[in-house]
Amino acid sequence: MNDPGKYLQRLQRLAQDQGFSVETIAAAEPVPILAFVRPDPGNNGTVYLSAGIHGDEPAGTLAILKLMEGKRLTDEIGWHICPILNPWGLARHQRVNADGLDLNRDYRSAAANETRQHINWLKKKNTRYTACLTLHEDCDAQGYYLYELNPDNLPSLVPSIFSAAGKICGVDRSEMLDGSPAKDGVIHLSTDLEARPEWTETAYLVAHHTQMAYTLEAPGSHSLETQVEAHTAAVEAAIHFLLKGD
Ligand SMILES: [Zn+2]
Repeated sequence: MNDPGKYLQRLQRLAQDQGFSVETIAAAEPVPILAFVRPDPGNNGTVYLSAGIHGDEPAGTLAILKLMEGKRLTDEIGWHICPILNPWGLARHQRVNADGLDLNRDYRSAAANETRQHINWLKKKNTRYTACLTLHEDCDAQGYYLYELNPDNLPSLVPSIFSAAGKICGVDRSEMLDGSPAKDGVIHLSTDLEARPEWTETAYLVAHHTQMAYTLEAPGSHSLETQVEAHTAAVEAAIHFLLKGD
């Protein structure tokens, strides 16, 4: 992903053809941080989908393009989509932003302009999301895995996500993932958000905008193409479950 400008041009054209409006969250280099918004047509709720907060993890950003290209983002629900939250990092394949900050640890202190503007935009949209899906890669993972924040124990999206992504790249069922204890591919960090000194994007979303947030990790041990495939399948399966319950 060394040309985010070209990527956004293509995504924007496809998105506008499919009834999305494009909103600028923040000016940034080399491209602005954009959101693609399509309202809920009825009462099925709105899903938040984001990627590219870690610039060295392009699979999620590419998965969003693939979903858009295939017209696979159902019009039965509303969508708020942020495909590149760290444009500087994505253009340079760097995890952090230009000031060396990991934006996905910055949602409590909001030290980075990217984070502050993103939070402002979320506040302005003032939406309760049915679910939030944030797309990542883990270069050490052998299969798909995820972090789940579901403090009210709503029906979990995990079985649907793993059944879809698992067919493509397997699920990493290691006892430790990314330095945290895991069970069957799921990491449940404490939902006591006040006790956490640093907030991820999903922690902020659960604190203010949703009851269910997922950090989906595609395995870097597989090809980029396979990771993109796994993310697209996971997103589709999650939405199918939200709409149909299976
Ligand atoms: Zn990441």
